[in-house]
Amino acid sequence: PIYLDHLASAPLAPAVLDAMLPWLSAAAVGNPHAAHRPGWRAAEAIDAARAEVAALVGAPPGAVLFTSGATEANTLALLGAAAPGGACVLSAVEHASALGCAPELRRRGHPVILLAVDGDGRVDPDRLADTLARQPAPALVSIMAANNEVGTRQPLAELAAVTRARGGRFHSDAAQAAGWGMVEATAMGLDLVSLSGHKLGGPMGIGALVVGEAVPLRPPSPGGGQQRGLRPGTLPTALCVGFGVACRLARAHAAADARRVAALRDRLWARLSAALPGLRRNGAPDGLPGCLSVALPGLDAADLLLGLPDLAAATGSACHSDAAEPSHVLRALGRSAEEAHGTLRFGLGRTTTAEEVERAAAWVIAAIHAGSPDGFRDIM
Ligand code: PMP
Repeated sequence: PIYLDHLASAPLAPAVLDAMLPWLSAAAVGNPHAAHRPGWRAAEAIDAARAEVAALVGAPPGAVLFTSGATEANTLALLGAAAPGGACVLSAVEHASALGCAPELRRRGHPVILLAVDGDGRVDPDRLADTLARQPAPALVSIMAANNEVGTRQPLAELAAVTRARGGRFHSDAAQAAGWGMVEATAMGLDLVSLSGHKLGGPMGIGALVVGEAVPLRPPSPGGGQQRGLRPGTLPTALCVGFGVACRLARAHAAADARRVAALRDRLWARLSAALPGLRRNGAPDGLPGCLSVALPGLDAADLLLGLPDLAAATGSACHSDAAEPSHVLRALGRSAEEAHGTLRFGLGRTTTAEEVERAAAWVIAAIHAGSPDGFRDIM
């Protein structure tokens, strides 16, 4: 199989597994919150991991709250940091885990405002400034660092500055961008940042919410005192350790890996676009290094992938393949339902090879040519 779905989940880096294994053994018993030597050993390992996570996004270690992933981090940020009575302003292309908080936010009295994006999926800082100027109270703004479906990056520092100028707080879902060294929380003025372990070579089931010092956060659960009560629950030592090593590796290799993976992405685009006239690229071409989203009107992308079970890629219906609706992201970019239906998302990653890219392109091109009975002019 050719795995080009790294944006849904990236493979566990071998060094991450090596670092985790000892912490999964019986010898590593010890609640990291317990006051004895086994507990302290686990707590020390978690503290070291916390420092690696913080370093990846340019934040102080004390700012890192471990969560089960970016979904929980987004929920914690939105439901925990919205100012009483203040509005929540989200971009229309946020991940479902952020957009899904809207009904609960409204129920709690926060007006929810969705910001439109341009044809590449970018939020205009002036539009955000206009929206915030109309709010009677400071708002919580949530705009992702880079989009998981089309790869487009947002002008984070500008958006955060506009938010600060109005006394608001700025949250960014950096689940996709962080592993490529694209996020500097302190330098960019970000108050809250969501991260996910399994998007950057770490294990599934762990992530973090990075919380700026001055940001008041309401805890989601009334009980349990771990992590200053802000995200209670016993921390999973092995998962935290693995996440930390993945962050260290990502930081060490981000620049070189980003260049190499972006070159592979551009090669895949070159192959596909040369053979498939009418193929269109979704999102900004300078987005996430591993993201290539392409649309071919008339194509049934889900059908195509069903016929290519050894090619792991995604369609235009977001991260989960059982969503039949065209993705809200492609619709926000102004794509028609037909284009969304004909969208394929390839997610390249650090382990992707040039040979895999060539083979995947050949498979897709052959399948599209074969799938159109009168030759593929039909679907141009
Ligand atoms: N935000 C973005 C941008 C994502 O791509 C994802 C994963 N699809 C998530 C949040 C959810 O992350 P997790 O799987 O860690 O809950």
